[in-house]
Amino acid sequence: PRFVDARRQDLGMDPTLLERAITPRTRAIVPVHLAGHPAEMEPILKIGERYGVPVVEDAAQAVGATYHGRRAGSLGRAGCFSLHPLKNLHAFGDAGVIVSDDEALYRWLVKARNHGLRSRDEVEFWSPNTRLDTLQAAVLTVMLAHLDEWIRERRDVAEEYRAGLRDVVEVPQETPGCLHTYQTFVILAERRDALLEHLRERGVDAKVHYPIAIHAQPAAQALGYRRGDFPVAEWLADHVLSLPLYAEMTVEQRAAVLEGVRSFYRGGCPA
Ligand SMILES: *Cc1c(COP(=O)(O)O)cnc(C)c1O
Repeated sequence: PRFVDARRQDLGMDPTLLERAITPRTRAIVPVHLAGHPAEMEPILKIGERYGVPVVEDAAQAVGATYHGRRAGSLGRAGCFSLHPLKNLHAFGDAGVIVSDDEALYRWLVKARNHGLRSRDEVEFWSPNTRLDTLQAAVLTVMLAHLDEWIRERRDVAEEYRAGLRDVVEVPQETPGCLHTYQTFVILAERRDALLEHLRERGVDAKVHYPIAIHAQPAAQALGYRRGDFPVAEWLADHVLSLPLYAEMTVEQRAAVLEGVRSFYRGGCPA
């Protein structure tokens, strides 16, 4: 894999840096719709088209998000969704789906998820078992009916947070034409680690998604990247903080989150 730096506006791939990452060996472009906001897909799709490279969307955090009227996950050749318990649409265990309007790819995927079996007796190619369990599918069928309502409620909480915090931290933006589902509500905060500590002391469970950029992960060591190669992603790793946000939050819980963040920046906390 070759990585492309992120941009601060939506935490997604910076499309102006994509082209220089493409080589003759590039097999797919994989934008991630992070935190529930779609990546800037139009230029990404154009570059994919120009180079004849398919775009595969990591829509794991963006079920229900839209980009100029189209659903995240439906814009590229294929879209991949995680339905893990932590995602907005969630099963009672591990689950996920891939969507595509490419008939040939669909036919291949149906075999690839099931040991490469062409029929009960014939294995066309080696492949693991990644079938969606039927029990999880049943749970998801029920959950799916609630998704739009959960997204509406999450957006209400997010609006309250945005209004209540925009003068003390950088709050998430919604690009015009996009619908943000707030899978996570990610603020960009000065003195992030001290803020996190302050919130924990007050019983507010904030989290960092994610503290280590992918090129700095131990697993990426062999790729030969160094600190400084992706300055925006590195900066984000030091400043992002996800605040607690879910559909059923009470008025008191929301107020505790807002007051937790605001009290930190009111002072009394050494810089
Ligand atoms: C959750 C997540 C994944 C992984 O999903 P699994 O269900 O664990 O396979 C991949 N990408 C992003 C952006 C995610 O948030």
